[in-house]
Amino acid sequence: MPTEKPIYRQCVGELVAALGAGNLTAVTILEALIGRTKELDPELHAFLSVDVEDSLRQASASDRRRMEGRLLGPLDGIPVAIKDIIAEKGRPLTCGSRILGNYVSPYDATVIRRLRTSGLVLWGRTNLDEFAMGSSTESSAFGATKNPWDRTRVPGGSSGGSACCVAAGFAPLALGTDTGGSIRQPAAFCGITGLKPTYGCVSRYGVSAFASSLEQVGPFGRSVEDVALLLSSIAGHDPMDSTSVAMDTSDYLAASRKFRTWTIGVPEEFFKSGLDGEVEAAVRRAIAFYEKSGCRIRTISLPDPSLAIAVYYIICTAEAFSNLSRFDGIRYGLRFPKARDAVDVYFQSRGAGFGEEVKRRILLGAFVLSDGYQNAYYTRAQRIRTRFRRDYLNILTEVDGILTPTTPAAAFPLGGRVQDPLAMYLADIYTVTANLVGLPAISIPCGFTASRLPIGLQIIAKPFAEREILAMANSFQL
Ligand code: GLN
Repeated sequence: MPTEKPIYRQCVGELVAALGAGNLTAVTILEALIGRTKELDPELHAFLSVDVEDSLRQASASDRRRMEGRLLGPLDGIPVAIKDIIAEKGRPLTCGSRILGNYVSPYDATVIRRLRTSGLVLWGRTNLDEFAMGSSTESSAFGATKNPWDRTRVPGGSSGGSACCVAAGFAPLALGTDTGGSIRQPAAFCGITGLKPTYGCVSRYGVSAFASSLEQVGPFGRSVEDVALLLSSIAGHDPMDSTSVAMDTSDYLAASRKFRTWTIGVPEEFFKSGLDGEVEAAVRRAIAFYEKSGCRIRTISLPDPSLAIAVYYIICTAEAFSNLSRFDGIRYGLRFPKARDAVDVYFQSRGAGFGEEVKRRILLGAFVLSDGYQNAYYTRAQRIRTRFRRDYLNILTEVDGILTPTTPAAAFPLGGRVQDPLAMYLADIYTVTANLVGLPAISIPCGFTASRLPIGLQIIAKPFAEREILAMANSFQL
C-alpha cells in the first residue's frame, strides 16, 4: 500500500517498516533524499559536502545484505547526515574552518565506526559554526545555513546544518555535537527533536575538540523515537575515550514508551525577563499537558541561568585556547606559503585560517588563564560550576525532570546578531547549564509563534537518565 507521506518526510520507524516489507530499498530512500537535497539545498546550504557515489554504494550494499538475510542491525540502510566536525575516513573534515582547508580525514571517529557496523548509510557532511563556536551557523567559513521554516532566519547553531537537514527532508537522522546547546538550540529553531546525552554516554574519539569537558555527540530526528534509535547506535564505552562510560545501550526505544506519572520541576528563574511571551505561553501549555496527564508539577529554584552563561564562556574559551593550539599550519590543513620562519608560519596560518569568532575565543581563553587572572576567572568559574552541579543534583533527587524553554525566543533573523557577540551568546542561556553539570537534556517541538516559527521545550534529568528523558519527551509527542 503506498504511504501518503513522501519518503523524505517519513520517520525512521516508517522507513524501517517499508524496508522490511519490501516496499522500499535503501537505494530508493537515498535517491529520494538526493532529489530533495538537489532541489532545496542550493538555497538552504545545510551540506558542506556530499559524496553521492559513496553513499549510494553503501545503500546498495545494505540492500544486498537484506536480500541475503545478513542485516547488521535495525537501522541497516537508513541514511544519516554527519556534522562536519566528526571524522569520517576519506571524507573532508573542515570543522567549518578555512584552517582545515582541503583536509580529508584518514580515520573514522568511534561514532562513525559504530554507524558503519550497524549498516547505516553515511550521507552528507553538514554545515556548522566554525569549530562549533556559535549559535547561528553564520560563523562557518563557508557561508550560513538558512532556516527551512523561514529562509530569512538562522537555523540555530552550531549544528545548524544537521538540524536543517532533518527539518528540510534531506535526511531522517543526523548527528550533531553539543558543547553549550548546539544540538538543542538548533533543534528548537528548526522544529525537530535533538538530544544531548550525559557527559560520558557517547565517545568523543575522532570529534574535533572545542571544549572537551563540556561536549557530547548526540542525535537529531523527526521524533523522540528516532532519536532513541540513533542513540542506541552510538552510545556506550569506547577504549579510545577514557571519559566514556560502560553501560547498557540497547533498549532506548523500548524505554521511550514506558510512561508513568513523573514529578516535574519548573525553575522560576528560567521564566524571568528576557523570555519571549509566545515561547513562555507554549512552554506553559506543555507544562499544563503534563499536569493533566497526572504528573506532579513543582515550582523549584535553581541558580540564575545568566550566571551560567558567564561561567560557560570562561571555561569553554579556556579549553578552546588549549585545544585549538594544534592548528598551527604545520600538522593539518592550511599553511601560509610565504612565511619567513617557523613562528611566522604559525602567525600567518592561524591569522588567515581562523575566523573572527574563533580568534575572539582564543584571546579570551588566553586571558582567563593568564598569570594574575587565572584565579579571578578560571578557578572561580570552576568553583561555581561545582556549586551548580551540587544544586542540580540535589533538585534531581526530588524531581524526575526539569522543564524549561530551550531558547528565550524563536529563530532570529540572519545577520541580526553577528555584530553583537553577547546577544549571540544569550541564545544559549537555558542550555549551557546541562553541559556545565554533564546532565542529559532534550529539546522537543512544543508549538509555533504566530509567524509560524517553531518553539522548543527542554527536559533535563539526572546523569544517565536518557531512558527517562526519552519517555517524558515521548509522552508529550505521541
Ligand atoms: N553556542 C554556544 C557557543 O557558541 C554553544 C556551542 C556548542 O554547543 N558547540 O559556544
